[in-house]
Amino acid sequence: MKYVLAGASGFLGKALARDLVADGHQVLRLVRRPPSTPDEIRWDPARGVLDPAALGTPDVLVNLAGANIGRPWTPTYRNKIRESRVNTTATLAAVAARLDRRPVLITQSGIGGYGMDLGDRILTEDSELGEGFLSDVVRLWEGALEPARAAGSRVAALRTGVVLDRKAPAFQLLSLPFRLGLGGRFGSGTQYFPVVSLTDWLRAVRFVAEHDTIHGPVNVALPTPATNLELTEALATALHRPSFVPVPAFLMKAALGEFAWELLGSKRALPTRLQSNNFTFHHPTAPTALSAALA
Ligand code: NDP
Repeated sequence: MKYVLAGASGFLGKALARDLVADGHQVLRLVRRPPSTPDEIRWDPARGVLDPAALGTPDVLVNLAGANIGRPWTPTYRNKIRESRVNTTATLAAVAARLDRRPVLITQSGIGGYGMDLGDRILTEDSELGEGFLSDVVRLWEGALEPARAAGSRVAALRTGVVLDRKAPAFQLLSLPFRLGLGGRFGSGTQYFPVVSLTDWLRAVRFVAEHDTIHGPVNVALPTPATNLELTEALATALHRPSFVPVPAFLMKAALGEFAWELLGSKRALPTRLQSNNFTFHHPTAPTALSAALA
């Protein structure tokens, strides 16, 4: 199949491109700088510029672009977080709607869209999105798919938990204190913390691309949701390190501001849509996903 990737220079984009090429798929990468290889196509998503003719007849467009949400959410940076996701998705949706043979359009999305702290409530793709900055971003991000859907493309939004892999910058940051013997749960540790192994995330993207029955939001997270404490203990065990230094909630809120809720808030999300379409996880539990991430 022919894939077009936005955000191909990022951690997930590079991993997906590698995986697809290794299996013989064709991959075009969208870049904001002058192209340096024949498989790169220049675009300017901030201005909605992408020439459909440059893409030929792609089967799947995937949007993995977005400014890092782990930086302080100043008003200016909030705009960047929002615009980098909405403009890229909107640009791809407009192009999908103009191509003679409508491609599938998949965007990455955030599981944080369900809300900041939802306790034990089970969250499926039918659950309402919540209130707050990230929920608003997710609403607009996924809403930007609409022109493609209205024009007849199959569209899907991958509401993804933290993707676990030893090379992932977010995972390296989370695991560093453990490697130093200073790791511990975040706050009370009772909050559900959605994660998925990189292998299963890659498999899920391709599963969604290949299954015509799947459209709309798709939760991509462990089918057996783990709490932060369970993940902490599994990580400490996998690294043969202790996990007795809890990080107090007040310190995280002081250091990270509103973003701390992404780590402290509970989201018990289930991958209902994937499972009802018979997707099976290779790493369904926290210990198996962490072992895979550290392998
Ligand atoms: P990275 O930070 O590694 O990569 C981000 C990508 O987005 C880069 O290719 C970058 O391109 C591009 N980008 C950044 N800002 C803009 C912009 N203003 N306009 C267009 N492109 C831009 O992120 P990941 O690969 O980790 O994640 C990809 C997406 O998936 C993000 O939206 C992220 O929020 C989301 N996500 C990630 C999860 C994870 O665990 N990694 C979990 C859930 C969601 P350039 O090189 O040109 O700057």
